Amino acid sequence: MQSKEDESLINPSRARLLAEANRCVSCGLCLPHCPTYRLTLSEADSPRGRIAMIHGVASRRIPMNERFAVHIDRCLACRACEAVCPNHVAYGRLIDETRAMMAIPTSDSSRGKVVIKKNRFRSLLESIFIDKSSRFDLVRPLIYLFQKIGLQQGLLRSDLVRRTKLGLLLSKLPWIRFPLHAWQEVYPAIGVQRGEVALFLGCVARLVDVETNLSAILVLNQLGYTVHVPNAQTCCGALYQHSGRIAEATDLIQRNKNAFAGLNIKAIISTASGCGAHLTEFCSQYQTENFSVPIVDINKFLTELDWNEVKITALSERVAVHDPCSMRNVVRTSDCPYQLLAHIPGIELIELAGNNLCCGAAGTYFLDQPEIAESLLNDKMVALDKTGASYLVTSNVGCLLHFASGLRAQGKKIEVLHPVTLLARQIGIQ
Ligand code: SF4
Ligand code: SF4
Repeated sequence: MQSKEDESLINPSRARLLAEANRCVSCGLCLPHCPTYRLTLSEADSPRGRIAMIHGVASRRIPMNERFAVHIDRCLACRACEAVCPNHVAYGRLIDETRAMMAIPTSDSSRGKVVIKKNRFRSLLESIFIDKSSRFDLVRPLIYLFQKIGLQQGLLRSDLVRRTKLGLLLSKLPWIRFPLHAWQEVYPAIGVQRGEVALFLGCVARLVDVETNLSAILVLNQLGYTVHVPNAQTCCGALYQHSGRIAEATDLIQRNKNAFAGLNIKAIISTASGCGAHLTEFCSQYQTENFSVPIVDINKFLTELDWNEVKITALSERVAVHDPCSMRNVVRTSDCPYQLLAHIPGIELIELAGNNLCCGAAGTYFLDQPEIAESLLNDKMVALDKTGASYLVTSNVGCLLHFASGLRAQGKKIEVLHPVTLLARQIGIQ
């Protein structure tokens, strides 16, 4: 049973949706920036069209039926539209609150039965791992074993499995590294201590990208920062928020606030830009108390430090840079990876063509809308091919997995990694 307070948080007021939708002047400037509109060329799959439909539903002029849900579900929530909107329509919040409205069971006859379609197994997995992301540390060795004895490859060879969501999920799963790694609560600075920070580990990264978080810790230690990794931290809650489960997202934010409270730190560092963007925005969007210190992307934090004393080995390679949407359209720090990697002598950095368009990973979008996700990924593969790069760097774990799976499927040897991992290698601390 929801309390009145929860209800007011979960059930977005139609008046608020209408007020935001009313700010759209239908200029259409956002249309060429919308990946789904570019693919389908349907107004209903454009930001302007979606806003008009949201307005229609919120004002009860049109029913909240399956047709409405199809176009809302197709939105990647990449917020490329928001970044270019001259009227600053807060599209990200609009789509999240629309999804929250769709997730509420109602007896309202103007609405069809519209729910986010997930099977029970998937919902169970989400609640097991999102609600307590340290459980990923426990399954890491099991997945490693599963891969070692060839079960993953075996299942992927079966047509029956490959065509299912499980097959899709398995195709994105990279080789697990560091199966037995256990996180320490504190990693002390090397040499003179310049400060203390904490690291936000995320959830999926605890399973598939331990290397990035370890690299961040080692680089920060090398630059004189002690790094705290509180065990009580959990998933950021972005997956819940983007599927309209605002109460659950709020609960995870509160648990994370408690986990990091009381530490004498100057920032909470995030290595996944999607998590960082969510942690940064959520409190102001939903008017809850902020984290006690700023949430800072690792690239941004490192670009502001003094690198004069650090020895970095040259790398005479071409490195393509992908800008995740959360970095480009939300926290607006996409120039930081370029500045950071420029510390590596000899490196040739190339901005990936089409960086203004989402790669299609978008949280669990690759599972929910596989055709669109694959089409967007194919465009990225073509752009990457043209660069002639040996590496692709991206600062978001979801994009990293999506790109890596595309390259594996094509048998390409380009390595996909986080900028901080490449930097750590060149500093020789891995
Ligand atoms: S750019 Fe902004 S105001 Fe113009 S159509 Fe898009 S959302 Fe509406
Ligand atoms: S968030 Fe992305 S996919 Fe959704 S309407 Fe805006 S530009 Fe299009």
